[in-house]
Formats: sequence, structure tokens, C-alpha cells
Amino acid sequence: MNRIYMDNAATTRVTEPVMEAMAPYFCEIYGNPSSVHSYGRESRKAIETARRQVAQALGAQAGEIYFTGCGTESDNWAIRGAAYARKSKGRHIITSQIEHHAVLHTCAQLEKEGFEVTYLPVDEYGIVHPDSLEKAMRDDTVLVTIMAANNEIGTIQPIEELAKIAHSHGCLFHTDAVQAIGSIPFDVNAMGIDMLSLSGHKFHSPKGIGALYVKNGVKIERLMQGGAQERTQRPGTENLASIVGLGKAIELATQDIPSHNAALCALRDRLIDRILTEIPETRLNGHRSQRLPGNVNISFRYIEGESLLLSLDIKGIAASSGSACTSGSLDPSHVLLAIGLPHEIAHGSLRLSLSEENTLEEADFVVESLKQIVDRLRAMSPLYNAK
Ligand code: PLP
Repeated sequence: MNRIYMDNAATTRVTEPVMEAMAPYFCEIYGNPSSVHSYGRESRKAIETARRQVAQALGAQAGEIYFTGCGTESDNWAIRGAAYARKSKGRHIITSQIEHHAVLHTCAQLEKEGFEVTYLPVDEYGIVHPDSLEKAMRDDTVLVTIMAANNEIGTIQPIEELAKIAHSHGCLFHTDAVQAIGSIPFDVNAMGIDMLSLSGHKFHSPKGIGALYVKNGVKIERLMQGGAQERTQRPGTENLASIVGLGKAIELATQDIPSHNAALCALRDRLIDRILTEIPETRLNGHRSQRLPGNVNISFRYIEGESLLLSLDIKGIAASSGSACTSGSLDPSHVLLAIGLPHEIAHGSLRLSLSEENTLEEADFVVESLKQIVDRLRAMSPLYNAK
């Protein structure tokens, strides 16, 4: 059976050019980057090349990039690091209700430590409105953290406007850009971003490698104690091969964003249009155009998302019913509830997340499969039959 992978927001395939770039850094070039000998120097050089590649992709300087273990670590470090460093100025943080748990749970932990957090609501499309941020700003607000694009419904936030408001109150602005790299062009200076988190496995580098951009002059506390790696700010021997992979992958992901987006939007819109017109009682979650080019999120009334996923899996189609990190829990997605969906509709939603490797034929096969599955599941649904 040919399988179809449409769960790229959960993770992506490591592509061949990325593998090739990484390959020498296991058995041939393996020195500890902190060692002074030639083995170490070779490794150090590769890390600095990757740092420049990440910096270039963001419009940053190499000295503003720190490698981390994942997007979650980058979010934790940015938020906790900034909160601790600025606590004498104030203890209030602003975020949104639809952030990833890497941000929400970090904020919840800070609340236990005596910080106050405002969770901004979003509109029916998942957009954080700049006026609601303006209203929430206080004299003791020290940090605003709003994601660039949502992992479940793909909504893209007005980051520049939000950052401007944070700055007008003397506040730092952090964005979780884990889902946005390769889809949104970043220029951290022009956009007013003080800190940005990213994660390699969302754009074809391996899992377990991330980076944090911290603008020159912005002081954040380090979270771990140890050696002098990453200019003493993030101790631990570097994940050399993965850092090389991340550098190559971000270079490839950001070299031609417009044509990448055009191809993905065509596929995405075909899926959305066909599902909404050919399957009754469906709704699109998120904004129609202000959304990631690879994101499709649709609710099917009278259907349980998990049954849909299992039936798709039997046909070899990999999708998701929410964020991969929360699947396994039966609670409806906090993102779908925040945009106002009732529990029963939130439960019946499906996320298809595309990569440039998906084809039109695959999209059509997925629609045909969905039509059959939805018909079958609805035929068994007492609620559907009683309506
Ligand atoms: N932030 C967002 C928006 C994400 O989608 C994810 C992962 O799905 C993360 C953070 C966490 O990244 P990682 O899996 O690298 O820890």
C-alpha cells in the first residue's frame, strides 16, 4: 500500500540534501567542538557555519543565535530567561490562549513562581487583535510572547503590529516561530522581534535540535549550569550533526519562500475547497487566507476525530486530530475551544498538514477517502440519524 504523509506540522522527513550535509559529522568529523585540537576546530567551524545559516534566514547576526535541544527548550528559555532577568522591573507577562503547550505550560509554571500572566483571547479565526494587546499592557508588563503561526489551525498573527505595541510599553517581544519557518519570511529587525524560537524537525532537519534568536543587548538568564558552550549561555556538548542539518535545512527552507508557498497553497486550497463542497456539515477552522500554506483544519459534524484518524490510517493516510503533543488525551483542543467551537464540533476535527512532497493525486485520494469514511461513520452515528 502506498502511504500518504500529511502530518508535517507534527514533524517532517529529513531530506536527502540535509542527510548528506550531516553524514560526515558522525564518523569522520567528530571532534568535540570545545577541543583545541584540529578535530575540535573542524567541528567548531561547522557549528559556526550553521549559526550563520540560521542568522541569514532570520535577518539576524550569527552572534544572536543559540542552538538548543528543541523548540520547547527555546520557548522555555526565552520566556523564563526573560522573566527572571526582568523581574525587578515587573512580573506581568502577556501571551495568547492558543499558544503551544511549550509556551502555555511555561507561563503556568511562572504563575506558580509569583508571576502574573494574561492569556489574550483570539477571534473566531484565531487572530490576536492588536487592540486587545494594547488594553492588556500594564506598567509591570515585562514580556509579550505570541506565536507567529498556530500549529493546529495555521493562523498567522500580525507579529509586527504586536511587537510594536510591546515596544511602545518598553516590553520585550518573543515569538514562537516553530511552525512558521519556511512559510513566513522573517526579518527580525524589521519585524521588531527580540527573541524567536524555532525547531529543526518542522522543516526537514532531525528531531531534537532547535535554536533561539536573542537580539543583541537583550539580557535573559540561562536556565542550565555547566560548561562554556554557546558563549556560556546554553551549556552541554553541541549536537554537532544535527546543528549542521539544521543549518542546511533552514537555508533550503528559506531560499525561495514565494514559490514554496504557491505550490502548497494550491494543494491546500484544493483540499479545503473539495472537502467543504463535497462533504456536507463541514467547516474550516482558522482564517481562509491568513493561514500557513500547508495547513488544512476541518471539523466534521457528527464525527469523532479519533475514528476519522484511525480510518484514514487504515487507508495509509497520516493526519492528526490536533497537535501531536496532545493526541492521546481526550480533551478537545484548547485552540479550537478558544476560537469558539463547541466541544462536540471540536472533537470532530482533522488537521492535514502538507509538505512540498505531497501531490495533487494524493490530495484527491485523501478527499475521496474522506468522503467514504465520513459516510460510513455518519451512517453509524445515532446523533446524525436523529437529526
Ligand atoms: N511550538 C509550536 C508552535 C509547535 O508546533 C511545537 C511542536 O509541535 C513546539 C513549539 C515544540 O517544538 P519541539 O517539538 O521541537 O519541542
